[in-house]
Amino acid sequence: MKQTVLRILFLCATLSLLLIGCTTAKTPAEPTTPTQQTTVTQATASTQVTTTTQATTPTQTTAPTETTTPTQATTPTETVAPTQPTTPTQVTNPTANPDDPLLQQYAINAARLDGVKTVAIDPGHQRKGNYTKEPIAPGETRCKAKVASGATGVSTGVDEYVLNLEVSLMLRQELLSRGYQVVMVRTSHDVDISNASRAIFCNNSGADIAIRIHGNSVDNSNVHGALTISTTDENPWVGVVTQESQRLSRLVVDHFCQVTGAKNRGVMISDEYPGSNWSKIPVTIVEMGFLSCPMEDEKMATDAYRQLMVQGIANGIDAYFQQMSDY
Ligand SMILES: [Zn+2]
Repeated sequence: MKQTVLRILFLCATLSLLLIGCTTAKTPAEPTTPTQQTTVTQATASTQVTTTTQATTPTQTTAPTETTTPTQATTPTETVAPTQPTTPTQVTNPTANPDDPLLQQYAINAARLDGVKTVAIDPGHQRKGNYTKEPIAPGETRCKAKVASGATGVSTGVDEYVLNLEVSLMLRQELLSRGYQVVMVRTSHDVDISNASRAIFCNNSGADIAIRIHGNSVDNSNVHGALTISTTDENPWVGVVTQESQRLSRLVVDHFCQVTGAKNRGVMISDEYPGSNWSKIPVTIVEMGFLSCPMEDEKMATDAYRQLMVQGIANGIDAYFQQMSDY
């Protein structure tokens, strides 16, 4: 009996110990495990969140910045954009101009407010002529080649389109230095602008007058001297402008010959030039000299004589506007 009681007691004690042991073993295990897990999880979680947040934040910040940068890059592209449509316009449209027409227009508007006169310069011809036809005047059925490549110096071999542009660029400088605003029909040889288109461009440019620069040529190598060309009194397309074109032509050729010493061949009148018939502003064609005359061709190739020609034309323009202000 005692043995039985002892066994029961022993078993009870063992069970109690086991129970306590299990409880004791579980108790430390429970807080440790979750604590560690929580810590790790939290650390990981916070690291992940932080990392994600940090990664996301700069990425997001960068993204708009990057979006802004292309937008900023687009702005100069937009500035270029008007120039790009201008290039094809130079080939096909009367409003063509190698210089930015829009900027020139702003400058002219500003100049007008200041009472500054604007001169349009048309350097005659271009590297490659365009021999398709255009009407010689608005509403006219008679046609002429759009634009020729021009004459060639009989002695120097200088092409007229080159002479015309080089003198025109010098004239632009001279007129600017005298306080005029200047617009150029072309500043490059590689354009395709018809004579009617040149006149329309000058009309739309806001210029007060147009000066068309040319070199002359005939079959006789002895013929030399300068002349200007204007429309006639009977010209049906230009109206009262013809009177002013004649006055401008007279003043320019007289001053030109006074300064250069060239033979004065006077003002030729004709209604056969589209560049004049399409004009809505006073216009003169300046035939500076004969490329078919060796002596004059060689003279016109020199910088010194070109300076004289430019001074003479500019003096004629001065006189033209001076007479207007005298009225
Ligand atoms: Zn010519």
